[in-house]
Amino acid sequence: PRPIESLLGALEHTAESRNGIDVKDAVVHWFKMDLRTHDNRALSLASEKAKDAGVPLIGLYVVSPQDFEAHLTAPVRVDFVMRTLQVLKHDLAKLNVPLHVETVEKRKEIPKRILEFLDEWGANHMFANMEYEVDELRREAKMVHLCAERGIAFEVVHDTCVVPPGALQSGSGKQYSVYSPWFRAWLAHIHTNPDLLTLFKAPPTFSPAARAKVAVLFDCEMPQVPESKRLSEEDAQRLHAFWPAGEHEAMDRLEKFCQEKIGKYHQRRNVPSEAGTSSLSVHLATGTLSARTAVLYARNRNKVKKLDAGIEGVQTWISEVAWRDFYKHVLVNWPYVCMNKPFKPEYSNITWSYNASHFAAWSQGRTGFPVIDAAMRQMAHMGWMHNRCRMIVASFLAKDLLIDWRMGERFFMENLIDGDFASNNGGWGFSASVGVDPQPYFRIFNPLLQSEKFDPNGEYIKKWIPELKGMTNKEVHDPYGRGAGAKARKAGYPERIVEHKDARARALAVYKEGLERD
Ligand code: FAD
Repeated sequence: PRPIESLLGALEHTAESRNGIDVKDAVVHWFKMDLRTHDNRALSLASEKAKDAGVPLIGLYVVSPQDFEAHLTAPVRVDFVMRTLQVLKHDLAKLNVPLHVETVEKRKEIPKRILEFLDEWGANHMFANMEYEVDELRREAKMVHLCAERGIAFEVVHDTCVVPPGALQSGSGKQYSVYSPWFRAWLAHIHTNPDLLTLFKAPPTFSPAARAKVAVLFDCEMPQVPESKRLSEEDAQRLHAFWPAGEHEAMDRLEKFCQEKIGKYHQRRNVPSEAGTSSLSVHLATGTLSARTAVLYARNRNKVKKLDAGIEGVQTWISEVAWRDFYKHVLVNWPYVCMNKPFKPEYSNITWSYNASHFAAWSQGRTGFPVIDAAMRQMAHMGWMHNRCRMIVASFLAKDLLIDWRMGERFFMENLIDGDFASNNGGWGFSASVGVDPQPYFRIFNPLLQSEKFDPNGEYIKKWIPELKGMTNKEVHDPYGRGAGAKARKAGYPERIVEHKDARARALAVYKEGLERD
C-alpha cells in the first residue's frame, strides 16, 4: 500500500480501541510544520478534548538535527523555524499552555522519545496534523500502532491542504496528474463542501490550575542549532528584517496583501522587480498560516462566494495557492516522486550532465545571462526567489546546461526559506519537464525573451547585479550580445557560458534520444 493508505489503515484499525480510552492527566498536541494557534485542526481538537476533560493541554515539538540534514533544510529556514517556535511558545504560554521543545540526536528516536514523554506526563491522548512525505507518513503509521499497544489514542488528521489528498478523482476514478482538470475538480469540491473553508478555533485559555500541573514545561530551553545550519550574524540581521517570524506576521501580511495588492495580482505577479506577490510562502511552508485561512481571506475580498468569480486578481491568487495543494496531492498519489524519480519512468533515460563549472556558475549567479544571475543572487541574499525567476533558472539548468535537475532541486532546498518538498519537486518537475505534465518539446524558456518580457527596463537585473547598473535597457538583458561587452568586462561581469540557440537544439536532441530509447 501507499504510505498514506498505511496510515489511514492504521487509524481505521485502531479507531475503536482509541475511542474507548478515557483521557488521563494531559492531552498533547504534537506540532510539526503547523506552528500556529489559529485555524489548526489537530490543535483545535486537542484543546477541546483537554478542556472537556479538565486536564492541561501540552504542545510538543521534537527536533532532530539529523532531520535538518536529511531534509536538506536551508540555514535560513532552520533559523525561521527556531524564531517561530519562540513566538508560538510565547503565544501558547498566554493561554496557559506550555510548548515543550525536545531535541533528539537521531530522527529514528523520535517515536520512542514521544512515547516516553506521554508516559512521563500521564498523557494518553495525542493529536497531530498529517504530513504527506513518505518517511513522515510511515513514521506516523508506526506511531499509531505503538500508541494503540500502550492504550494511547493518537489521532492524525488532514489539515495542510484545503482539499485533502485523495478527495478528487476523475470521472473514470483516476487521480489527476494534470493541473487544469484537477483545479476544476478542486473548485467544484470546495463549492459542494463549503465547510472546507470553515476555520478551526484557536485553543481557549486554560485555567491557572491546569497551568500549575505542567509548570516546569514552561521553562524549556530552545534547541541548539548545529554549526552547519547556523546563520552568521550579518546574515541573521539582514534575513530577520526580510522575514519576521510567527503567525501574527503571517496574518498581517495576508491582510495587507488582500487589502492592497490582490486586486492587481493577475497583472503584477510575473514582474520580478515589483513586490506584487504575497511573500507568504514561508508561512504556508512552516504552517504559521493555513492554506484554508489564506483562501478564505482572499475570497472575502470578493462579494461572491464562488472562488472562480469576482475580482480577477483574487481568482488568480486562489488558483496559485491551489498549486500548493496540487503538488501535495501528487506526492501522496505517486510517492515515488519523493525518491528522486521522474514522474514517468521513460524520463529516467535522459542523459544528464554533471559539469561542475557550469553548476558553480549557475549556483553563484555567474552564467553571463543577467536574468539568471540576478535571480540566483536574489536567492542568495533573501533566501527567496520570485516564481517567474524560479521557472527561468530551473529551465536554464535542466535545458540549457542539461544538468541533472535533482542537483537544482537540492540546491533550492538548501537555500530557500520556503523550501517545501512537494512544491519544490513539482516546480522542478515542471521546469525540467520530468514531472506530471512534462511537455519537453515545448517548454524550453529562452532566457533573453523572458528577461525582456518580464523585466523590460532591467530593473530587477540592475537591482541584483550592480556590475550592470550602467547599461541601457537594451544592453542590460545581454551585454555581450548587444555591443556592451567591453563595458561588462570592465565591470567584471562574466561572458555567457553557453549559447541559448545551440543549447536548445542540444536539449531537444538529448530529451528525444532518452525518451525514444528502449
Ligand atoms: P504568491 O504568488 O503570493 O502565491 C501564494 C502562495 O501560493 C505561495 O506562497 C505558495 O504557497 C503558493 N504557490 C504559488 N505558486 C506556486 C507553485 N507554482 N507551486 C506551488 N505553490 C505555489 N514554493 C514553495 O512554497 N516552496 C518551494 O520550495 C518552491 N520551490 C519552487 C521551485 C521551482 C523550480 C518553482 C518553479 C517554483 C517553486 N515554488 C515553491 C513555487 C513558487 O515559486 C513560490 O511558492 C512563490 O514564488 C512564493 O512566493 P509568494 O508567496 O509571494 O507567492
